[in-house]
Amino acid sequence: MKIDFAKLGLAYVEHKKEIDAAIAKVIDNSSFIMGAQVSSFENNLSRYTGAKHSISCSSGTDALLLAMMAIDIQPGDEIITTPFTFIATAETIAFLKAKPVFVDIDEESYNIDPSKIEAAITSRTKAIIPVSLYGQPSDMTEINEIARKYDLTVIEDAAQSFGSEYKGDKSCNISSIGCTSFFPAKPLGCFGDGGAVFTNNDKLAEIMKSLRLHGQTERYFHKYVGMGGRLDTIQAAVLNVKLKYYEEDVKRRQLVAQKYTELLKEKLITPIVKDDRTSVWAQYSVRVKNRDGVQNKLKSVGIPTAVHYPRPLHLQECFEYLNYKEGDFPVSEMVSKEIMSLPMNPYLKDEEINYIATNLINIF
Ligand SMILES: *Cc1c(COP(=O)(O)O)cnc(C)c1O
Repeated sequence: MKIDFAKLGLAYVEHKKEIDAAIAKVIDNSSFIMGAQVSSFENNLSRYTGAKHSISCSSGTDALLLAMMAIDIQPGDEIITTPFTFIATAETIAFLKAKPVFVDIDEESYNIDPSKIEAAITSRTKAIIPVSLYGQPSDMTEINEIARKYDLTVIEDAAQSFGSEYKGDKSCNISSIGCTSFFPAKPLGCFGDGGAVFTNNDKLAEIMKSLRLHGQTERYFHKYVGMGGRLDTIQAAVLNVKLKYYEEDVKRRQLVAQKYTELLKEKLITPIVKDDRTSVWAQYSVRVKNRDGVQNKLKSVGIPTAVHYPRPLHLQECFEYLNYKEGDFPVSEMVSKEIMSLPMNPYLKDEEINYIATNLINIF
């Protein structure tokens, strides 16, 4: 058997007619930038997440930048986040000349450990960016409570968790600002780059809307120093179609995850989703010793795997200037050596799941 990791092509095949028509309509109208589909997509996002304001933008990375610019992050400000995430979470902090301050993760959820946050807060701390890693939100009640106590903003990096729930509320709408990504391989992906920011705060919404259009208030009049951060109309048109069917995709991902866990839990450390939340399974990641060997054996029988992420951010070359060292965040370091993602998409068949699980278990 030869397994496809994400089956991105199948997502198109399923709704090809509708997607093709939606794209053709944008081209026919030449409404490539900020066309009607952009605002209809934003309305659909608000309906889906419950957030009062949904503002589409050019990527998940730019969503994080918009959020931090909106709260006026300045050089030297400190922002607390996890070292066990994709580079964009901390890169955007550093890009604004603010300082990423890392806090280790919880060994079960792989998300930031809220019990370690307070010790990292200083007089320069402005915000906390919890990452809803692999699709599961962090302990938002605890994190929002700490933020209230110290007057900080919480920005959820929900690039992997669009559609998941925390205590009945949708990810992207469980903190001051939520940021997501529609990169093709994310659970809700478009046909290129895309993202969105979410908030219930009118003032922040107004600023972020303006920042994504070069800080303008009206054409050629600029109140803020902003950026070219729009979502293409074609991407909005594709996303409008895909969002209609997204709940079904989420359910299928959750079923795949459930089947994996049933087959693997005796032999391996499988993912744990806490009772009061759900995951959209951006990744299904298990922990194994001798990961290189395991990956090679799986590869030889047609099973692709990936590692999210092999090196925690405090040990990345680009962050050497922050002066962290090996041993500073032992949980992140241990997990990054053992974690391995299995093929995950809504189209995995039972026979494929069984094949993957059997081959994996047989290694041990
Ligand atoms: C993908 C991702 C991003 C960046 O999103 P892009 O759309 O690729 O810019 C940020 N944070 C996390 C956790 C991600 O997984």
